[in-house]
Amino acid sequence: MATNKVLVVEDEVRISDIIKLNLEKEGFSVLTATDGQVGLDLALSSDPDLVLLDVMLPSIDGFEICKRVREKSNVPIIILTAKEEELDKVLGLDIGADDYMTKPFGLRELIARVKANIRRSGMGEAAVEDPSKVQVIANLEIDMNRYEIRKNGVPLELTLREFELLKFLAEREENVFSREQLLEDVWGYDYYGDIRTVDVTVRRLREKLEDNSSEPKYIQTKRGVGYFFRRP
Ligand code: CA
Repeated sequence: MATNKVLVVEDEVRISDIIKLNLEKEGFSVLTATDGQVGLDLALSSDPDLVLLDVMLPSIDGFEICKRVREKSNVPIIILTAKEEELDKVLGLDIGADDYMTKPFGLRELIARVKANIRRSGMGEAAVEDPSKVQVIANLEIDMNRYEIRKNGVPLELTLREFELLKFLAEREENVFSREQLLEDVWGYDYYGDIRTVDVTVRRLREKLEDNSSEPKYIQTKRGVGYFFRRP
């Protein structure tokens, strides 16, 4: 198996060094950038398998980098935020990251999330052999192997995580899942991550999927419990 390459964009060298060291110990190859522009250039030119992205950076901030990378690439992006208030801002901006971690974070947790995000993104490429597995639910065609979804025949541009979440719920329609369960089953975390990640992904998915995202017909909220899929 080829070595997975992680790009770390972080201006605090102390943090960057310790992430690099620990990822290398786990067998990853690691590129680092301490400047936003350099980070953006590397994200687009070096074909990383995952990007760890700090928010406050010299020249271009992490929000902008994330948005610009998303215009061209579906590489998994984990945002590293300095504090809870900043995380609220990141979640509110909805910039298309796959995951978020608040500093200070545990290195074991970071590595677990890096692995989970790379594993998930690799599944998309590995599963193209059987093109026949298309599930039709109401006016949605979900191609489980090609990771494509069409609504009334029109393809929807979903990120891998949005697709995974929709697929998971659609395959289990009318079953309500808590945010913690979804983190475990869709994100692949065997611990409690930040459940707001689930809410952000649901919101983004609804904006792409629903005719009116404030009155969702597919992804339903079960108040106080979680989310479920319903056939409209
Ligand atoms: Ca910083």
